[in-house]
Amino acid sequence: MLKGTFSYTPPAALAGSARDYRHARGADLLARIEGFYKWQNLRRQHGLWPFSRSIDERPGAVTAARDDAGGHFRGVNFASEDYLNLASHPAIRQAAHEVIDQFGVHSAGPATLMGASAHSVRLERKIADFLDMEEALLFPTGWAAACGAIKGLVRPSDHVVMDALAHPSLKEGAAAAARNIFLFRHNSVEDCRRWLQQIRAADAQNGIMVVTESLFSMDSDTPDLAALQALCDEFNATFLVDVAHDLGALGPGGRGAIAAQGLLGQVDLVVGSFSKSFAANGGFVACRSREAKEYLRFFSSPCAFSSALSPIQAASVMKAFEIVEGAEGQALRDQLMGNIQNLRRQLVEAGFEVLGEPSAVVCVKVGAEGLARLVARRLPEAGLIANLAEFPAVRKDHARLRLQVMAGHTEANIRDAVEAVKAAFAGGREEFDWLTSEREKLRAHG
Ligand code: PMP
Repeated sequence: MLKGTFSYTPPAALAGSARDYRHARGADLLARIEGFYKWQNLRRQHGLWPFSRSIDERPGAVTAARDDAGGHFRGVNFASEDYLNLASHPAIRQAAHEVIDQFGVHSAGPATLMGASAHSVRLERKIADFLDMEEALLFPTGWAAACGAIKGLVRPSDHVVMDALAHPSLKEGAAAAARNIFLFRHNSVEDCRRWLQQIRAADAQNGIMVVTESLFSMDSDTPDLAALQALCDEFNATFLVDVAHDLGALGPGGRGAIAAQGLLGQVDLVVGSFSKSFAANGGFVACRSREAKEYLRFFSSPCAFSSALSPIQAASVMKAFEIVEGAEGQALRDQLMGNIQNLRRQLVEAGFEVLGEPSAVVCVKVGAEGLARLVARRLPEAGLIANLAEFPAVRKDHARLRLQVMAGHTEANIRDAVEAVKAAFAGGREEFDWLTSEREKLRAHG
């Protein structure tokens, strides 16, 4: 597009955030939320709502998708969280087919009331052994595992000390469980220590849970888990680490940052999701005693009162673990890391700021939300399917493009993605600057 030929984009579609609608006020619960749809729809009408897309094919390196206004597009796919491409692996599809023939397609109950199957029982053992933990139990989703582990153990007079950027599943679990929630500065061991000192100086009676992630997917960074575990030991706190994004994909044997930092079997509670590297929906909590497992089974509501993982999911994940821990898994991780480094290098060479450390989530800093929306609008036409992360998912004015790398991306896919980011950024920047100058002219003329 040439300067001055942009179709008019109303400022309201580039301003505001979902946060504006979170605390809606008024007596009618449904009437008071209507403003969100109005704002969202304005963005939708101008091609600025890149969320709620659906996929028309398997989540491969190239795929077809449609936005939620029905527009189709096809392109290189950096928007799926299938880091090792196991979702379409032949052995996993075969395992799923076999279990359908054997068990049908449904778990037919929570794990407490015969919803478990031979496949889920085996999978729990597999996960515990993989992580060098005593026990593991399954949850219907990673969200349920994270939220349920906290809510299952923490009581209102206890304390939760949590990384400020922890995933909403962890934050909502804490909010539902306790009154006393303390957020420490992202990845700051010192800030965490400060809270623990303060809490223990006043309260030796109640429990403390320290919560973090092994890989933060909006920033692609990892805390010093060993130092945090040492703090927990010092202050009689329980340590919970969410490994959703690195388990399977990174670290020695695919065991993530916990293994890379020499902590296998030492963290009190490890929670995770199967939805990134294990080809299925579902999640788990791994713990260091049968006592903890049995307590969570009955006192963590999403485990006790929600139907168990289906045998299809359990068998698929079991097969995924077998692949992850074998030679093929290592080869896939090597391919994935090669792709990650290649993509990051090309983006940096093109002048972009790429956040954090190498992981399957490659976040490209854009900045202002309005600019980021204009850039994201151009990605599909440039042939790239990638996600936009904007406030409140990330800090204000720290919007970014989130490219999720898979082992199956080719060099050509990566080159195409970088070219698309360059084109979308140049066009978005030009339009953003033009809109800003037009607005200034209007303001100057009263
Ligand atoms: N924890 C973290 C850190 C996550 O990033 C996610 C998913 N994005 C979850 C939990 C939830 O996992 P699931 O998709 O399996 O519900």
